[in-house]
Amino acid sequence: MHTTVRAAVLREVNYKEADKILTLLTGEMGKVTVTARGCRRKSSPLSAACQQLVYGEFVLYEYQGRWGVKEASTLRQFRGLFREVERVALAGYFAELTELLTQEELPAGEVLSLFLNSLHALDQGPWPREQVKAAFELKLLALAGYEPLVDACAVCGREPERPMLHLSQGVLHCDTCREAVGEGISMPLTPGGLAALRHILWGDHKRLFSFRLDPQSLGQLGDLAEAYLAARLERGFRTLDLYKQLTAEE
Ligand SMILES: [Zn+2]
Repeated sequence: MHTTVRAAVLREVNYKEADKILTLLTGEMGKVTVTARGCRRKSSPLSAACQQLVYGEFVLYEYQGRWGVKEASTLRQFRGLFREVERVALAGYFAELTELLTQEELPAGEVLSLFLNSLHALDQGPWPREQVKAAFELKLLALAGYEPLVDACAVCGREPERPMLHLSQGVLHCDTCREAVGEGISMPLTPGGLAALRHILWGDHKRLFSFRLDPQSLGQLGDLAEAYLAARLERGFRTLDLYKQLTAEE
């Protein structure tokens, strides 16, 4: 059986002498593991598209319950990422997170769009890396079923003057309502940071990164996004550690 899919390459692992095993993300079929035979040979017509962070069109064949790549062509390469090692590292983290939060045989059109838009934003957008990172993390978590409730304070129902997000419960509250929320860590946001958070969660996905924050508010939103992700997923990421090492001096 043959099928043609448009997919982003989330991961590549070398296999045997000249093959790769790829993890693809498609809109229709979710995550798919495929073998690309011979693609590490320079002369292979598969070699250009069978690389991590490429968006391509793949003709797949099924053989004994596994998928192989018959043809592959590149639709988008995001070359601008490779001008800066920090951007490549961040894109690698996006790929690792996306792989974790998607499943086989479960359509993932929205996540695929988010992933491609985020690579495009890192490649060509005017936004700071930290802004793209926070928006990607929060939006991906929301699409994966971990959307925090941020319409009003979870305790008193009012718009918080000094907003905080309770990480393990994923709810907004006022700093004065802190005790009533229960145990666990809460992190502060500026009112501007809260508006940006709502924009990320509720706004038009095509304008996901289009918000402006002062450095303090952006720093807090970035810290919150990362801490919320760690609290929800209860694990760390090797690719995130690498990104943080690279940017530690900034
Ligand atoms: Zn309150």
